[in-house]
Amino acid sequence: MKILVAVKRVVDYNVKIRVKSDQTGVDTANVKMSMNPFDEIAVEEAVRIKEAGKASEVVVVSLGVAQCQETIRYALALGADRGILVQTDSELQPLAVAKLLKFVVDREHPDIVILGKQAIDDDSNQTGQMLAALLDWPQATFASKVELGDGEATVTREVDGGLETIKIKLPTVITTDLRLNEPRYAKLPNIMKAKKKPLEVIPVADTGVDFAPRLMTLKVTEPPQREAGIKVESVAQLLDKLRNEAKVI
Ligand code: AMP
Repeated sequence: MKILVAVKRVVDYNVKIRVKSDQTGVDTANVKMSMNPFDEIAVEEAVRIKEAGKASEVVVVSLGVAQCQETIRYALALGADRGILVQTDSELQPLAVAKLLKFVVDREHPDIVILGKQAIDDDSNQTGQMLAALLDWPQATFASKVELGDGEATVTREVDGGLETIKIKLPTVITTDLRLNEPRYAKLPNIMKAKKKPLEVIPVADTGVDFAPRLMTLKVTEPPQREAGIKVESVAQLLDKLRNEAKVI
């Protein structure tokens, strides 16, 4: 059993996002970049499946600039066996990512592809679903529990108002939700070992995939500033403001 995990390099979740002055996007110059947190959960799940003796290889794939190799190396330090970078400096939107992942799936023939449910930079929540559609494979999105059986998986999904448990046939696409697991930290010896693990770089032009953007960003703006609060003198004044100013009661 082979597991393919998609890992995206994004602005670190601790960084305060700044919008570029020309409103064309988010400023990424001199900003700390890390693995998308949901993808760390995806790597952790794949490594746990391998450690449980249910998978023989975990391959990680990232698509983007040369620096994505750092993201791949981190996944290798967490326990993945091998990495693939489909390299491009061009912008990749979810449909292009899904098509490029399909290219990798067609080469690697994994039994399971695990992705994050969403990337915290574009918040698209589209790639896993699009990949499953392109492959014509079943999908289990927002997974909070994965149990592997013989040629099938039982997946608990976080849905509005509760949990849904489904059984799907392999090969399949799974996307991770926050409660699936708690990713480990990479230990120094494993970071050193990861440097020697194989990492293949494929120029995007060699894939023959049309990755041209289909969506145009018109404008990116900061969220509106929160107005300062006020102190009221009495409950009566509070009720008056709620009733007549905020009009919420
Ligand atoms: P999105 O649909 O953009 O919210 O991304 C969902 C998931 O798709 C991410 O959590 C990643 O697992 C995967 N993904 C998206 N973009 C990339 C990328 N450039 N390289 C590798 N994986 C990606």
